[in-house]
Amino acid sequence: MSNALSNRINSLPVSQTLAMAAKARELKAEGKDIISLSLGEPDFNTPDFIKDAAIEAIQQDYNSYTPVDGYAELKEAICTKFNRDNNLNYAPNQIVVSTGAKQSIANVAQVLLNPGDEVLLPAPYWVSYSAIATLCEAKFVEIPSSIENDFKITPEQLEAAITPKTKMIFFNSPNNPSGTIYSEAEYRALAAVLEKHPQIYILSDEIYEHINYGSPLFSFAAIESMYDRTITVNGLAKAFAMTGWRIGFIGAPAWIAKACTKMQGQITSGTNCIAQRAAITAVSAEPSAVQYMVDEFKKRRDMMLELLGAIDGFKLNVPEGAFYIFPDISGFFGRTIRNKTIANANDFSMLLLEEANVATVTGEAFGAPNCIRLSYAASEEQLREAVKRIQEVVG
Ligand code: GLU
Repeated sequence: MSNALSNRINSLPVSQTLAMAAKARELKAEGKDIISLSLGEPDFNTPDFIKDAAIEAIQQDYNSYTPVDGYAELKEAICTKFNRDNNLNYAPNQIVVSTGAKQSIANVAQVLLNPGDEVLLPAPYWVSYSAIATLCEAKFVEIPSSIENDFKITPEQLEAAITPKTKMIFFNSPNNPSGTIYSEAEYRALAAVLEKHPQIYILSDEIYEHINYGSPLFSFAAIESMYDRTITVNGLAKAFAMTGWRIGFIGAPAWIAKACTKMQGQITSGTNCIAQRAAITAVSAEPSAVQYMVDEFKKRRDMMLELLGAIDGFKLNVPEGAFYIFPDISGFFGRTIRNKTIANANDFSMLLLEEANVATVTGEAFGAPNCIRLSYAASEEQLREAVKRIQEVVG
């Protein structure tokens, strides 16, 4: 009865990151020796000091509904974090805690976008941005980039993409899938363009902020002229290895935070009580508490660049953050490998899955059809084996 489904769901694409992860799981369950480099998920465990806080919360009988926008102590701790790490001053009424940064983004889009509004997406962009904009009946407008310029857009491109209908832009640095980090100067140059267009709101997704290999942190809202128009999105999943705990949050103008709370109050209510109690401990920890993971990710990034660099046809740049390599593999287009013709990145990603037993995600899903994404949030041994298998198939 699929024709009974709404137009809304029928026109919604499946999340390609989750679909590839599910496919890899399914093949593993069938007994195939799949190495999954599809999902952006740290392979570390949540640190003990955070787990202890959760256990304590259960023992202290935290089991009731939580305030829709989050526990007051957690919102205070998030304000302190924004001040400590991002040079941003937010008051608790500007904070909303949600079930993962994904919900935070969906809330913001739903409260700001009307049908027909345009949303600018510097490409490559995370798969769910375009889907969330589509759900709001907005039109997403891609601003392309390429590996030659480290996947960065220019102020001129931004200016050219803006129309009277432009309502929002989604920024994400460090970027998923490219690992690109915009410098403060680059952000300021983009902000200078946005200053001329006061109708545009900026969603700055900073979920990978701590997974950066030396670039100074910079938050979009720290630019004074942008503060009143920026929604800063963050969460605990990536830096604290807490993907399944589902804690995301925003810092935003109070009127936007209030609207997000109203939206969330009709859809999911306040997020999980135990995860929120643990989040107070996580958010209050200095970033140095999780530096050991970042150091490990950097080692793996360097190793992956060296290993993949030895395969003809993989065009690479040096990602400065997150835990993805995003090679341009268009050099393979038009070739036939193991009786399979490679016309695009989807074909290439499927070839790697079927012939090398390595799961990746096609760049098509991220608005970058010449690329594929490999997550290196996997053990060194698995990564070495994955690249060896890829080399055997395409090398
Ligand atoms: N954000 C992660 C990724 O890109 C997790 C999956 C998802 O929510 O898309 O792989």
